[in-house]
Amino acid sequence: EEYTLEDLPGVGPTTAEKLREAGYTDLIELAVASPKDLADTVGIGEGVAQKIILAARKYANVGSFETGDVIYERRKKVTKLTTGSSDFDTLLGGGLETQAITEFFGEFGSGKTQIMHQLAVNVQLPKDKGGLEGHAVYIDTENTFRPERIKQMAEALELDPVEVLKKIHVARAFNSNHQILLVDKAMELAKEYPVRLLIVDSLTAHFRAEYVGRGSLAERQQLLNKHMHDLLKFADLNNAVVAVTNQVSSNPGMMFGDPTQPIGGNIVGHTATYRIYLRKSRGNKRIARLIDSPALPDGEVVIKIVKEGIRD
Ligand code: ADP
Ligand code: MG
Repeated sequence: EEYTLEDLPGVGPTTAEKLREAGYTDLIELAVASPKDLADTVGIGEGVAQKIILAARKYANVGSFETGDVIYERRKKVTKLTTGSSDFDTLLGGGLETQAITEFFGEFGSGKTQIMHQLAVNVQLPKDKGGLEGHAVYIDTENTFRPERIKQMAEALELDPVEVLKKIHVARAFNSNHQILLVDKAMELAKEYPVRLLIVDSLTAHFRAEYVGRGSLAERQQLLNKHMHDLLKFADLNNAVVAVTNQVSSNPGMMFGDPTQPIGGNIVGHTATYRIYLRKSRGNKRIARLIDSPALPDGEVVIKIVKEGIRD
C-alpha cells in the first residue's frame, strides 16, 4: 500500500503542504532526511522533525535488497552509445553508458546542445554502428532543439531525416516542476516506444533561475536531488543512456586552476556517473575532459563541431 504525507501522525494538511513546498514530496525523502535540515527548511522544531522522520521510516517504501545475480543480469545489458567521435568514444571506454547519467558541463557555446542533437540521432543507429536502435526523449528547457540540425546530422549518416525526427520525442519544460513531471511522462512513453536515450538540456537552468538567494538553496538541492534520482531510475529501468547538460558559474574566489564550477554542486556531481567538462578551443574545436570517473582514467580529447555533426 502507498502512504502519503498526511498519513504521518501529527502531519495535517498545513504541515503536509509545507513539506511538499520544501521538496519533501515522498515519504522516502523524509525517511532519509536529517532532523536539522528538515527543521530548518520547513520551519518546525527539531523534536517535531525527528518524530516525522521516524514515522516516515515506518511507512516509507524503502525498497528491498536485490541479490547479486539479479544486479549482474541487469549490468550484463549495459551497452554504449557512440558520440560520433571515435576519440571521444575511446575516452569514455567505448561511448556513453546505458544505466548511467552522463553530465556535460561547460560555458555557453561549448557544444553541449550540439552533442545532445548528435546523440538523439546516433541512438537510432544499428548496434554495429554504435547505436542502440531506439528512440530519444528530449527535454528542452532553453528552446534550443532544432529539427533542421537533426536533419543535417541524419543526412550525414545516410539516414532518412523524416524517420529520424519521428523517433525524437521533444517537450519544452516551462519551469523546474514541469521538467520533473516530464520525466514521469518519459517513463510512460517508454512503455509505448523503445526509448533508449533521455536528454535534459539544460538540467539546471530553470532551477538556477527560480531558486535564487541563499535561503532557497536547500530547497533547490532537494528538488535537483529528486530529479537526478528519477533520471537514474529511468536509465536503469529502460537500460537507457541519460545525458544532461549543465552550465558553469564562475568562482572568482578560486585563485588557481580553472575558475568555473558546474551548477548544482555536489548533488549533481555525486549522482551523475560520468562528468564531462567541455571547453572551447580554436575555431570549431572543443576539448572534452572526463572528470572523476569511477572506473575510467581521467583524460581529455579534442573534438570538432562540423556541418555533419560531432567528429574527431
Ligand atoms: P552550448 O549548448 O554549450 O551553449 P552549442 O551546442 O549550442 O553550445 O554550440 C554552439 C556551437 O556549435 C557554435 O559555436 C556553432 O558554431 C556550432 N554549430 C552550431 N550549428 C552548427 C552547424 N550546423 N555546423 C557547424 N557548427 C555548428
Ligand atoms: Mg545549449
